[in-house]
Amino acid sequence: MSRAGPRPLKHGKLPAFVRLGRSGLHGFGLFARDFIPQDTPIIEYVGERITKAEAQRREERRLARLAAGGDGCVYIFELNRRQDLDGQVRWNPARRINHACAPNCESQQGRGRIWIVAQRDIAPDEELTYDYGFPYSEWRDHPCRCGATACVGYIVDTRQRWRVRRALAGG
Ligand SMILES: [Zn+2]
Repeated sequence: MSRAGPRPLKHGKLPAFVRLGRSGLHGFGLFARDFIPQDTPIIEYVGERITKAEAQRREERRLARLAAGGDGCVYIFELNRRQDLDGQVRWNPARRINHACAPNCESQQGRGRIWIVAQRDIAPDEELTYDYGFPYSEWRDHPCRCGATACVGYIVDTRQRWRVRRALAGG
Protein backbone atom coordinates (compact mmCIF):
# COMPACT_ATOMS: atom_id res chain seq x y z
CA MET A 1 0.00 0.00 0.00
CA SER A 2 1.45 3.36 -0.94
CA ARG A 3 0.69 6.63 0.74
CA ALA A 4 1.45 10.21 -0.20
CA GLY A 5 3.69 12.31 1.97
CA PRO A 6 7.20 11.85 3.26
CA ARG A 7 9.14 8.76 2.34
CA PRO A 8 8.98 5.94 4.85
CA LEU A 9 11.57 6.18 7.58
CA LYS A 10 14.31 3.60 7.46
CA HIS A 11 15.33 1.85 10.62
CA GLY A 12 19.01 1.22 11.09
CA LYS A 13 20.37 -1.88 12.73
CA LEU A 14 23.62 -2.35 14.58
CA PRO A 15 25.46 -5.20 12.84
CA ALA A 16 26.52 -8.13 15.05
CA PHE A 17 30.21 -7.24 14.69
CA VAL A 18 29.71 -3.77 16.19
CA ARG A 19 28.87 -2.76 19.77
CA LEU A 20 27.97 0.43 21.60
CA GLY A 21 30.38 1.54 24.32
CA ARG A 22 31.76 4.45 26.32
CA SER A 23 34.02 6.49 24.09
CA GLY A 24 37.35 8.07 24.98
CA LEU A 25 36.48 10.79 22.46
CA HIS A 26 32.94 11.89 23.29
CA GLY A 27 30.03 10.28 25.15
CA PHE A 28 29.17 6.95 23.61
CA GLY A 29 30.66 5.49 20.47
CA LEU A 30 30.56 2.40 18.31
CA PHE A 31 33.30 -0.20 18.57
CA ALA A 32 34.41 -3.16 16.48
CA ARG A 33 33.55 -6.44 18.20
CA ASP A 34 35.55 -8.45 15.66
CA PHE A 35 38.20 -7.75 13.07
CA ILE A 36 36.70 -5.64 10.23
CA PRO A 37 38.53 -5.78 6.88
CA GLN A 38 39.13 -2.63 4.85
CA ASP A 39 36.25 -1.61 2.51
CA THR A 40 33.57 -3.36 4.60
CA PRO A 41 30.27 -1.45 4.49
CA ILE A 42 29.66 -1.32 8.26
CA ILE A 43 26.39 0.44 8.81
CA GLU A 44 23.98 2.60 6.87
CA TYR A 45 23.51 6.13 8.16
CA VAL A 46 19.73 6.44 8.13
CA GLY A 47 17.39 9.21 9.15
CA GLU A 48 14.64 11.48 8.14
CA ARG A 49 14.69 12.90 4.61
CA ILE A 50 13.97 16.61 4.85
CA THR A 51 13.84 19.57 2.51
CA LYS A 52 16.61 22.20 2.47
CA ALA A 53 14.20 24.67 4.09
CA GLU A 54 13.50 22.27 6.95
CA ALA A 55 17.24 21.56 7.29
CA GLN A 56 17.82 25.30 7.59
CA ARG A 57 15.18 25.58 10.33
CA ARG A 58 16.76 22.70 12.23
CA GLU A 59 20.22 24.21 11.81
CA GLU A 60 18.98 27.48 13.33
CA ARG A 61 17.53 25.57 16.29
CA ARG A 62 20.85 23.73 16.68
CA LEU A 63 22.80 26.99 16.71
CA ALA A 64 20.41 28.41 19.33
CA ARG A 65 20.93 25.31 21.52
CA LEU A 66 24.68 25.62 21.07
CA ALA A 67 24.62 29.32 22.00
CA ALA A 68 22.68 28.42 25.15
CA GLY A 69 25.41 25.98 26.14
CA GLY A 70 23.53 22.87 25.01
CA ASP A 71 24.23 20.07 22.58
CA GLY A 72 25.51 21.43 19.28
CA CYS A 73 26.12 18.11 17.56
CA VAL A 74 25.41 18.02 13.84
CA TYR A 75 23.58 15.06 12.33
CA ILE A 76 22.44 16.50 9.02
CA PHE A 77 24.00 15.14 5.83
CA GLU A 78 23.56 16.71 2.44
CA LEU A 79 21.91 14.16 0.12
CA ASN A 80 21.35 16.16 -3.05
CA ARG A 81 20.29 19.61 -4.21
CA ARG A 82 16.78 19.19 -2.82
CA GLN A 83 17.07 16.97 0.20
CA ASP A 84 19.12 16.48 3.34
CA LEU A 85 19.13 13.60 5.78
CA ASP A 86 18.69 14.25 9.50
CA GLY A 87 20.24 11.35 11.39
CA GLN A 88 19.31 12.60 14.85
CA VAL A 89 16.73 9.88 15.42
CA ARG A 90 16.69 7.01 17.90
CA TRP A 91 16.59 4.44 15.11
CA ASN A 92 19.89 5.57 13.59
CA PRO A 93 22.61 3.79 15.62
CA ALA A 94 25.24 5.18 13.19
CA ARG A 95 24.68 8.62 14.78
CA ARG A 96 26.83 7.34 17.67
CA ILE A 97 29.95 7.15 15.53
CA ASN A 98 32.34 9.87 16.64
CA HIS A 99 34.51 12.10 14.52
CA ALA A 100 38.29 11.69 14.34
CA CYS A 101 40.79 13.59 12.22
CA ALA A 102 42.68 10.34 11.44
CA PRO A 103 39.65 8.06 11.18
CA ASN A 104 39.34 4.35 10.40
CA CYS A 105 36.06 4.73 8.44
CA GLU A 106 34.61 7.09 5.88
CA SER A 107 31.10 8.05 4.84
CA GLN A 108 30.23 7.07 1.28
CA GLN A 109 27.25 8.41 -0.55
CA GLY A 110 25.43 7.04 -3.55
CA ARG A 111 21.87 6.94 -4.86
CA GLY A 112 20.56 8.94 -1.95
CA ARG A 113 22.00 6.66 0.70
CA ILE A 114 24.90 7.00 3.08
CA TRP A 115 27.09 4.17 4.30
CA ILE A 116 29.89 4.15 6.83
CA VAL A 117 32.65 2.03 5.31
CA ALA A 118 35.94 0.74 6.79
CA GLN A 119 38.75 2.83 5.35
CA ARG A 120 41.37 0.38 6.60
CA ASP A 121 41.50 -2.88 8.54
CA ILE A 122 40.01 -2.35 11.99
CA ALA A 123 41.06 -4.39 15.02
CA PRO A 124 38.63 -5.75 17.63
CA ASP A 125 37.73 -3.14 20.30
CA GLU A 126 38.85 -0.20 18.16
CA GLU A 127 36.40 2.68 18.21
CA LEU A 128 34.85 3.39 14.79
CA THR A 129 35.34 6.96 13.58
CA TYR A 130 34.96 8.97 10.42
CA ASP A 131 35.86 12.50 9.44
CA TYR A 132 32.81 14.78 9.73
CA GLY A 133 34.65 17.24 7.48
CA PHE A 134 32.63 20.36 8.30
CA PRO A 135 32.92 23.35 5.96
CA TYR A 136 35.60 25.96 6.60
CA SER A 137 32.98 28.65 7.26
CA GLU A 138 31.94 27.00 10.55
CA TRP A 139 35.22 25.55 11.83
CA ARG A 140 35.17 27.60 15.07
CA ASP A 141 31.89 25.89 16.08
CA HIS A 142 33.44 22.43 16.09
CA PRO A 143 36.42 22.00 18.40
CA CYS A 144 38.17 18.62 18.28
CA ARG A 145 40.26 16.84 20.87
CA CYS A 146 40.87 13.60 19.00
CA GLY A 147 44.62 13.78 19.60
CA ALA A 148 45.68 12.79 16.08
CA THR A 149 48.87 14.31 14.69
CA ALA A 150 46.80 15.61 11.79
CA CYS A 151 44.31 17.32 14.15
CA VAL A 152 44.24 21.12 14.04
CA GLY A 153 41.98 21.32 17.11
CA TYR A 154 38.84 21.77 15.05
CA ILE A 155 36.69 19.55 12.84
CA VAL A 156 37.06 20.86 9.32
CA ASP A 157 37.28 19.53 5.76
CA THR A 158 40.79 18.01 5.39
CA ARG A 159 41.49 20.23 2.37
CA GLN A 160 40.86 23.30 4.53
CA ARG A 161 42.95 22.33 7.59
CA TRP A 162 45.86 24.47 6.39
CA ARG A 163 43.57 27.54 6.44
CA VAL A 164 42.57 26.83 10.04
CA ARG A 165 46.25 26.39 10.99
CA ARG A 166 47.01 29.71 9.35
CA ALA A 167 44.08 31.44 11.10
CA LEU A 168 45.15 30.02 14.47
CA ALA A 169 48.73 31.20 13.87
CA GLY A 170 47.27 34.67 13.41
CA GLY A 171 48.26 34.81 9.74
ZN1 LIG B 1 40.84 16.06 15.66
